[in-house]
Amino acid sequence: MNLRSVKSLSTIRSIVQFCFLFWVVGIGIRFGLFINSVESGAAVPLVSRPPGVEGFLPIGALTSFKYWLVTGKIHPVHPAALVIFVAILIMSLLARKSFCSWLCPVGTLSEVAHKLGSKIFGRNFRVWRWLDIPLRGLKYLLLLLFMKFILLDMSADALAGFLDAPYWAVSDVKMLHFFTDMSVTTIVVLAILTLLSLFYKMFWCRYLCPYGALLGLVSLASPFKIRRDLTGCTGCQSCSAACPSALSVHACNTVSSPECTGCLTCVARCPEQNVLSMQPFFWKKPLPVWFFPAVVVLLFTSGVALGMVSGHWQSSLSYADYQRLIPLLPNLTH
Ligand code: SF4
Ligand code: SF4
Repeated sequence: MNLRSVKSLSTIRSIVQFCFLFWVVGIGIRFGLFINSVESGAAVPLVSRPPGVEGFLPIGALTSFKYWLVTGKIHPVHPAALVIFVAILIMSLLARKSFCSWLCPVGTLSEVAHKLGSKIFGRNFRVWRWLDIPLRGLKYLLLLLFMKFILLDMSADALAGFLDAPYWAVSDVKMLHFFTDMSVTTIVVLAILTLLSLFYKMFWCRYLCPYGALLGLVSLASPFKIRRDLTGCTGCQSCSAACPSALSVHACNTVSSPECTGCLTCVARCPEQNVLSMQPFFWKKPLPVWFFPAVVVLLFTSGVALGMVSGHWQSSLSYADYQRLIPLLPNLTH
């Protein structure tokens, strides 16, 4: 890969990440205006409710996912949560944990925080290896808890009970208030995580995100993997030094780790031409730099488009439902 391609790869990823981040911020602002209409007593909303906001409800999406598996039906309250969740699962199944490094707004902000940290402190920090491995296990432990409580313990009746309840109906409003009306505890926790992200690359993603843990495990089946051409490799280790997941890329023929996010940083940093590549196992020729990013974007947009055209995007809740339910919010605990 030549210098021009390296720059293209970094630029393509930044463009994709920031377009998605701005789209998500736009959704957040639109939803805020919608809820403001309800809370100010307006007879009609200033803007319609954007279903994409349900992408911020991964626990509900997991519940909806099991309900779908058990009953064969898609629950009509917040179906976009399920559509986005399934689209991201399929992305991981086919194109590694690429949601984390190409689309997730938390991942993008973590990268920004880390770059800012490097500028402030003039260096990168790495958690000691003896501590890094057990810390990485934390996100799998959190995932295990969610899997046990939702996928294993909840019966079909319990799932329906949760998805029919007012708590799930207004969970999007609760999530909005989480950001707009933060408690002291929330502010302290977010401040600690931001500080740790300034020091340590992708602290949240690497150690604590159960969603990323799930996608990593699903990505083990992905046909795309980072592949190293042993004959051209000089062993310079630039790939491993640049990998945000601290993987020993220089020592692998193929990178199969669930920690690989498909960010292609290693490919961009390798000084040798066509030695590292993100290839499916059935394709031996070099692929153009835009190919993997195009696959990632296509998989996500196709998943969402399929949800829209199949009628599983708009929630069944009306403006009147929000007017009725929002005053009940302080009393809804589960
Ligand atoms: S191995 Fe390469 S693609 Fe995977 S996380 Fe590391 S730098 Fe990114
Ligand atoms: S950066 Fe390229 S040449 Fe250097 S060790 Fe990694 S794969 Fe080999």
